[in-house]
Amino acid sequence: MSRSVLVTGGNRGIGLVVARAFAEAGDKVAVTYRTGEPPEGLLGVRCDVTDPVAAQRAVAEVEAQFGPVAVLVANSGTTRDALAPVMREEDFEDVIQTNLVGAFRMARLVARGMISAKWGRIVFVSSVMGFLGSPGQANYAASKSGMLGLTRSLAWELGSRNITVNMVTPGLIETDMIRGVKDRRREQLLSQTPLRRTGTPQEVAEVVRFLAGDGASYVTGAAIPIGGGLAMGQ
Ligand code: NDP
Repeated sequence: MSRSVLVTGGNRGIGLVVARAFAEAGDKVAVTYRTGEPPEGLLGVRCDVTDPVAAQRAVAEVEAQFGPVAVLVANSGTTRDALAPVMREEDFEDVIQTNLVGAFRMARLVARGMISAKWGRIVFVSSVMGFLGSPGQANYAASKSGMLGLTRSLAWELGSRNITVNMVTPGLIETDMIRGVKDRRREQLLSQTPLRRTGTPQEVAEVVRFLAGDGASYVTGAAIPIGGGLAMGQ
């Protein structure tokens, strides 16, 4: 069955590969993009997830084209790194707004349709750094660990309506986001990664698709690591 799928931040990086994987499997896929152009072959809706009006408009547009969203992948994310003593409060707040409040906002907007349909899948894209902590990333790590409480609370709230809510925690995945990671930090993280390599967006997409599929119908409130073993057991 072709489902209505919405991937936030689906214009590049992990989100784009996730979106294409759903489309290849036959789903109707919309992506949000904030800057630049929408990707070819997918429905692009412009949306900055920190803007409640834009978020509402984006979901309405997707629902008008494809019907109520059955699968949400809340993937939009950003960083503004600095050591805590010199981090500007607005950089802390911006990251929380994008990564955590934005994810909550999108989930809330699609939940209504899922409740009516008595079926839905929400997948939050968190990060292993939410568990490990990360020097220079107090804002980012806080936003990503906050997603765990969000995931589990929504899993409780929506479970009786046959809606699962899960979170993935990628490790180092080759996208623009890690291009700025210094070599020393990268080597340090890889030395703590049993598979000794970075991951690919495709490897994230495989797990996200599994969580959104029938095979994961009894999985909810879970935090699934996709980090080559980095931070295993956390
Ligand atoms: P990219 O930097 O390649 O992509 C980030 C995406 O988020 C872009 O599509 C971007 O849109 C979008 N975005 C950023 N801010 C906003 C906003 N305010 N409103 C709407 N969209 C926004 O990163 P990745 O693909 O690597 O990251 C995707 C997710 O995976 C993020 O949540 C990230 O935290 C997480 N992650 C990534 C890891 C990695 O190693 N790469 C590891 C762990 C987690 P635009 O292009 O318009 O700016």
